[in-house]
Amino acid sequence: RPAAPAGSEGKVTGEPGEADTLNAAMDWHLERHPDLPHLYLYGDRDDPETLSYGELDRGARRVAAALVSRGVRAGDRIALMLPTSRDYFIAFFGVLRAGAVPVPIYPPARPAQLEEHLRRHGRILNNAGARLLITVAEARSVAHLLHAEAPHCHIATLAELDEAPEAQAPAVPAANDLALLQYTSGSTGDPKGVQLTHAQLLANIRAMGQRLQARPDDVFVSWLPLYHDMGLIAAWLASLYYGIPLVVMSPLSFLSRPLRWLELIDRHRGTISGAPNFGYELCLRALTPERMQGLDLSSWRVAFNGAEPVSADTMEQFGKRLAPCGLQSSALMPVYGLAEAAVGLCVASPGRGVVIDTVNRERFEASGEAWPESNPAAAQRFVNCGPPLPGYRLRIVDAQGHELDERLEGDIEFQGPSATDGYFDNPEESAKLRHDGWLRTGDRGYLASGDLHISGRLKDVVVRGGRNLYPYDIEAAVGDLEGIRKGCVAVFGNPDPATGAEALVVVAETQEQDPARRRELHHAVADSVVDIVNVPADEIVLAPPHSVLKTSSGKIRRAATREHYRQGRLGKQAAPVWRQVVRL
Ligand code: ATP
Ligand code: MG
Repeated sequence: RPAAPAGSEGKVTGEPGEADTLNAAMDWHLERHPDLPHLYLYGDRDDPETLSYGELDRGARRVAAALVSRGVRAGDRIALMLPTSRDYFIAFFGVLRAGAVPVPIYPPARPAQLEEHLRRHGRILNNAGARLLITVAEARSVAHLLHAEAPHCHIATLAELDEAPEAQAPAVPAANDLALLQYTSGSTGDPKGVQLTHAQLLANIRAMGQRLQARPDDVFVSWLPLYHDMGLIAAWLASLYYGIPLVVMSPLSFLSRPLRWLELIDRHRGTISGAPNFGYELCLRALTPERMQGLDLSSWRVAFNGAEPVSADTMEQFGKRLAPCGLQSSALMPVYGLAEAAVGLCVASPGRGVVIDTVNRERFEASGEAWPESNPAAAQRFVNCGPPLPGYRLRIVDAQGHELDERLEGDIEFQGPSATDGYFDNPEESAKLRHDGWLRTGDRGYLASGDLHISGRLKDVVVRGGRNLYPYDIEAAVGDLEGIRKGCVAVFGNPDPATGAEALVVVAETQEQDPARRRELHHAVADSVVDIVNVPADEIVLAPPHSVLKTSSGKIRRAATREHYRQGRLGKQAAPVWRQVVRL
């Protein structure tokens, strides 16, 4: 193992508590410790490239000067289509220094995905009214195709945006100016541009830092994509604010070598690091006794898991397998959030570990009552996602909008200092979001002792014989069957247009070609559905790889998969997730 790189000399004391913009937070650090290492960027080499606050800001100011000289004005939206790299951080802050609004989008797909990528991103660029798209030379051809979809949006590489700062400073944003347009991941429909101001981003960052007791001697390690809230706000911008060094690797390098994530935590004595559930799963699959040899994870105090359903099994296994490496199981932390709240909404206090609530499944499905159940055969397990962050409130409401008591399932709504004012240039969706001074999350769940338990997304519920069924446990059980591709199962309801009754459909990917073996698989899937929900599936489709559609962040797009199912197009469009979206 290579030795840890030299740490930061001066340490941060205090935090930019008075800052009301990200720009002012950066200034606070520049005045005190411009040479403090801020980013440790891991590319292909074994040693990281470091970037101090001063270096980042000098680069950003050159970009800002170039933007201003090209006529970019305060409030203009500038799209960023850049891989995880020095360029990304400099371009993002350069846009902020110009008083403009960054719109991160993900780098182009591989050829099979191009059409979908262009359609989706053409829409985003048009909705945002982006003036400019900053990208890298390798992506120019895709960028030009995007320009054809959104002709008002010009293209530039970062190298072309390098100008000595002018004497006159670029625009200085105010607290209530937009700081980010964050497009939702599009799990349930078309992506929507969540508007977030400087004040809102800082409010969410401070609430998370307060709950996690962020300290200057923390070290954040992240491979999360920088075009999504968790990698962008929770990892990068929060580290920038608190003066916590951020160790970064790209999502692609995580995918090709998942254990490198854990090795970087070890090497840098990382204290805060996290991922959606599948990140932990990939590590579990890659772990071998040899790879665990000498791995020391004792510094890891917050291992958060969010953005997707958290599996109690995954967390338990991860805690057990890595205990010999010094991982404290109390560090494991399920969290809940959404782009409409900036990023975080529910986070437990550090050191609590995973708490599971066990309720009676039938009662829950029939009446939404989360009744404690001790018999495992009759039980359903829910992961406790913690209480709302300080300054935030949650409520659970029924279909009529009436607030429900604890342990009753309903729609989750929230209030808080980072609740978005709405989606950019999208009055219809913005109106649907608001409800009597609260924001709808689109998720369902219940509260118990003030802690949130997520049952699922409203749009994923399958109503079958008067019961509310959720796809997640079925998908997980079917994905565990031998011969089925894990994580590549979608369960959804298919309403009969005549009766409105919903058929329960299971689409499970398999490579299996042999007819006899496929029949066995079919039976195994049918049995596991009955085991879980006590009703048979109405249709089971064993489909070829890449039939189950996913978002760029790896979430299953059930409604889109249902559309393909209805049109008989399952498996016709290759869409392996993650790998295709992060490579240039
Ligand atoms: P779209 O709104 O376009 O369909 P999206 O909701 O997936 O996309 P994000 O805002 O990035 O986009 O994700 C937030 C959603 O992720 C939440 O609304 C919730 O459904 C899911 N989620 C986040 N954390 C958890 C969690 N701990 N358990 C279950 N689901 C979670
Ligand atoms: Mg959403």
